Amino acid sequence: MIISKPYLTVEQIQHKVKELAGRISADYRGKEILAVGILKGAFMFFTDMVKLIQVPVEIDFLVASSYIKTRTTGEVKIHADIREEIKGKHVILFEDIVDTGITLKFIKDTLLSRDPASLKICTFLDKKAHRQADLDLEYVGYEIPDEYVVGYGLDYDNKFRNLPYIAVFKEDSAHS
Ligand code: 5GP
Repeated sequence: MIISKPYLTVEQIQHKVKELAGRISADYRGKEILAVGILKGAFMFFTDMVKLIQVPVEIDFLVASSYIKTRTTGEVKIHADIREEIKGKHVILFEDIVDTGITLKFIKDTLLSRDPASLKICTFLDKKAHRQADLDLEYVGYEIPDEYVVGYGLDYDNKFRNLPYIAVFKEDSAHS
């Protein structure tokens, strides 16, 4: 397996997080947010974001998966649901990357049925090449091409999540 040099550096990530947190703080001025981190992948992005958001924030997490290694199964599993009541609240879902959109569409529809005041999506990366679900993404960090990326929370086989930057991952049969 081969990991590229940083595709998005620590500095680029920090810059984008600041910008997104600034936009959310302005858009939700005078309101409170229920921030939901989609685990595991969004854990780094989520903690960076909530530290910089300037309106009152409640925190919750949802554990979901639709991927086995680099191949999507198209099936979404919610392994652990949020614990907070969301009726009447302004919910923002924080995701690491949207690819087909199937995972987030499933989560969004599930939460919308619980009657929040509003529900928006904030994703750090947006990979449009294989989008299948019809999904509005209100806050997007970076659009990326059709590459499999790791780092900053994103994994390959649950590894590389701890890299502080985003790198491109390639399987190399000669060396793996
Ligand atoms: P979707 O349902 O949008 O196809 O997939 C979303 C999930 O797939 C993400 O939360 C992430 O776990 C995984 N995923 C999609 N693309 C990538 C990628 O390039 N790298 C990694 N590490 N995970 C990805």
